[in-house]
Amino acid sequence: MASPAKMNVPFLDLASLHEPIADEVNEVWAQVTKANAFIGGKWCEQFESDFAAYIGTEHAIGCANGTDALELIIRGLEIGPGDEVIIPANTFIATAEAVVAAGAVPVFVDVDPDTMLITAEGIEAAATPKTAAVMVVHLYGQCAAMDSIMAVCDKLSIAVIEDTAQAHGAEWDGKRAGSWGVAAGFSFYPGKNLGAFGDGGAITTNDGALAEQIRSIAFHGRSLVSRYHHDNMGMNSRLDGVQAGVLSVKLKYIDEWNAGRQRARDRYEAGLNGIPLVSVHERSKSVHHLCVVQVDEREAVMAHMADRGIGVAIHYPVPCHMNKPFKEWTPKVAPVVAETAAPRIMSLPMYPALSDEMIDYTIEALHDFHA
Ligand SMILES: *Cc1c(COP(=O)(O)O)cnc(C)c1O
Repeated sequence: MASPAKMNVPFLDLASLHEPIADEVNEVWAQVTKANAFIGGKWCEQFESDFAAYIGTEHAIGCANGTDALELIIRGLEIGPGDEVIIPANTFIATAEAVVAAGAVPVFVDVDPDTMLITAEGIEAAATPKTAAVMVVHLYGQCAAMDSIMAVCDKLSIAVIEDTAQAHGAEWDGKRAGSWGVAAGFSFYPGKNLGAFGDGGAITTNDGALAEQIRSIAFHGRSLVSRYHHDNMGMNSRLDGVQAGVLSVKLKYIDEWNAGRQRARDRYEAGLNGIPLVSVHERSKSVHHLCVVQVDEREAVMAHMADRGIGVAIHYPVPCHMNKPFKEWTPKVAPVVAETAAPRIMSLPMYPALSDEMIDYTIEALHDFHA
């Protein structure tokens, strides 16, 4: 059988998102630069209040990136040397990095084989008297099972921190990711569902005292009442005014974009019969940051896809704890699900403007490999 006419299907196409809003973005960019509101200021405050309202929390604090957001939460909670923080073995390295940067001990646990997310059972099995917090990662855009996770952490007196870097707008039982735990860290890296034109991040929380503490640490530990006094050991992690302006514009479109991702996901699901997709729990509303399948002979499949002009990627080929800097924290119980899936997972093209033709072409290429 002859192959279909060759198409180019990029893994991600940011220009397709940005072209329709270019005028709005240029306008806000001009306003911010005219006002010299480069760090903090009106546009940062506006975005923080817009974003808190969207997530459903009382506070949002802008910062430099998602990794800092997670570190700032841990430090704001005064979790550090000697404290253990439970994290899933299947996550981006930044989750683990933030724990170590704050001086705490990362404890890697296994994930659910269907959703690839951390579970209440995994947390309970790994908890010790030294466990101070769990970092729940809503990976691939899907909210973890927060009702059972909150219940077990409540019982064990463990703080719940959410890594929401991939899940802007996701929900569990109708409640948004980023509004469940004591605080949540978001990334606005350009490729995330809500992305800036550079790096950016935010922390959401309902705890006013924690919000103030985090705001201070992120600004050199500065006193919030006297700018020349420093109450905390701080760092420099702020959101730029131009990024905040862009993010407020893009936030207006996030639901529409997430709906576009849902359409793409539905079409993949209908066409991929036989090729296992990482599943979405019925109580979770995923925002499909990534569309992940599991395949045998991944290297050969990836070469075949590249040959067809289709961009694919791997999130993540090496579970965190198997990377060199984390050897010291090798888990006592091997996270078998994460380790077994790592050589099999592959992410397909996923973004709101991905056309039906592109999805069908991608599905056909996968089926052709197995034919
Ligand atoms: C992107 C990401 C981060 C880090 O965000 P940056 O803005 O790149 O620092 C943290 N956790 C997860 C799960 C991510 O995907």
